[in-house]
Amino acid sequence: MSKQINIVGAGLVGSLLSIYLAKRGYKINIYERRPDMRKTTISAGKSINLALSDRGWRGLQGVGIADEIKKIAIPMYGRFIHNRDGSTGFFPYGKKDQAIYSVSRGEINMRLMDLAEQQSNVKIHFNERCTQVDRASLTAHFENDSTKQTTSSKSDLLFGADGAFAASRLNMQLSSDRFEYNQHYIEAGYKELIIPPGKNGEFLLEKNALHIWPRGSFMMIALPNPDGNFTCTLFLPFEGEKSFAKLKTKEAVKKFFDEEFPSAVPLMPTLLDDFMNNPVSSLVTVKCFPWTFDNKIALIGDAAHAIVPFYGQGMNCGFEDCVVLDELITKHKENWEAIFPEYQTLRKPDGDAIADLAIANFVEMRDKTTDPIFLLQKKIEARFNEKHPDKWIPLYSMVTYSPHIRYSTAQKEGQKQQAIMDMIMSKSGIEQKWDSEEVEKEILSMLK
Ligand SMILES: Cc1cc2nc3c(=O)[nH]c(=O)nc-3n(C[C@H](O)[C@H](O)[C@H](O)COP(=O)(O)OP(=O)(O)OC[C@H]3O[C@@H](n4cnc5c(N)ncnc54)[C@H](O)[C@@H]3O)c2cc1C
Repeated sequence: MSKQINIVGAGLVGSLLSIYLAKRGYKINIYERRPDMRKTTISAGKSINLALSDRGWRGLQGVGIADEIKKIAIPMYGRFIHNRDGSTGFFPYGKKDQAIYSVSRGEINMRLMDLAEQQSNVKIHFNERCTQVDRASLTAHFENDSTKQTTSSKSDLLFGADGAFAASRLNMQLSSDRFEYNQHYIEAGYKELIIPPGKNGEFLLEKNALHIWPRGSFMMIALPNPDGNFTCTLFLPFEGEKSFAKLKTKEAVKKFFDEEFPSAVPLMPTLLDDFMNNPVSSLVTVKCFPWTFDNKIALIGDAAHAIVPFYGQGMNCGFEDCVVLDELITKHKENWEAIFPEYQTLRKPDGDAIADLAIANFVEMRDKTTDPIFLLQKKIEARFNEKHPDKWIPLYSMVTYSPHIRYSTAQKEGQKQQAIMDMIMSKSGIEQKWDSEEVEKEILSMLK
């Protein structure tokens, strides 16, 4: 008889995981706290766009659904920087044709649910909030959010894919000795805003780019949607001189935007209402260990490793969890006693690495993208990579376009590269000789 698997959470990772497991013949029940989002509307200010990159695509390709998702994705070939004085600049993310893809979180989640339900052995139960997991009997308990009825379900394996504030994880934490748990909120929160399409449905900013208005301690970004609008996200400290705490009235918001984002204001006709109506959300990193329990229960996606969004990798990392797990199922011929220990041993260092890289990228996006020295360094790295692709892949490309390089390896390589670039950038006259043979030779010798 095929194994019964329960998954808590029909978010991005739970839905994709169910397809991987269903294709192997397991019988899957997913329990999702929310109502079916395909039948309800997404609340205002919660429409987030995500950047999907090569690790995510690999996860989707693994079960043959990448083409379906490509239909709702817009390629973004680089960062489009909007300075305070109105000047702009475009900086490619990688080589020509390398892109990250803007997808609406709701759209991709709905497609993934459709594709999961197309598997005859997947059933999604909506409105079912997991309240407890009984570890000894592998029984999960649920309360229906609309009827308040309680149910339980026993399975052979259970995956906690219930996101950053996972109930499944909390249960494991409470029932385990020596469970490591670390949660960190950054000082900034975020609020979603919108740039609607023009009169004829046209994009009012360059369509194929990720737009950034970097302002030092804060920034706004905008990602394109297929219907011509852009979802903007303002990342701003909760407290302090320039902060959400200071923006309590429409007058204060108007003044702040007129001063900080004058080029965006004319494109945002509903700015003041959106700002007052949409919520401010916080940004958390969660690190924990173990990720598996009794070789029968595992955490996956944000439940195992919630990260801040500044490398655009949370979902990509979660999809990569599914790929790695699937490879281990093949390797260990469905022996879960071997699969689970190796899954957490492999993935934990990678989850930690991308969590740290994501924090560091906040500073890079909001602060350094206007710094000429930083931009010169990126130019030198790109040129060196063009000449010696086997010796140097820039950190961003390792993380974003190299799904076969582990996040933890990318992080270590990135640290070595930064040490080399610190020496190069301190050379006198580097602005003039950045593309010279002398600089190339020096990098080569430091690499040896
Ligand atoms: C502002 C922002 C921007 C981001 N940008 C990017 C990006 O550009 N690229 C990228 O790769 N990632 C990005 N991310 C991260 C990405 O959204 C997450 O990594 C991804 O959603 C994780 O998927 P998940 O399925 O693990 O968790 P979730 O998507 O959070 O899904 C968890 C599911 O579990 C359900 N659930 C929760 N509790 C229970 C319970 N008790 N019982 C039953 N069900 C429950 C929830 O309703 C939800 O459906 C961003 C995140 C934020 C906040």
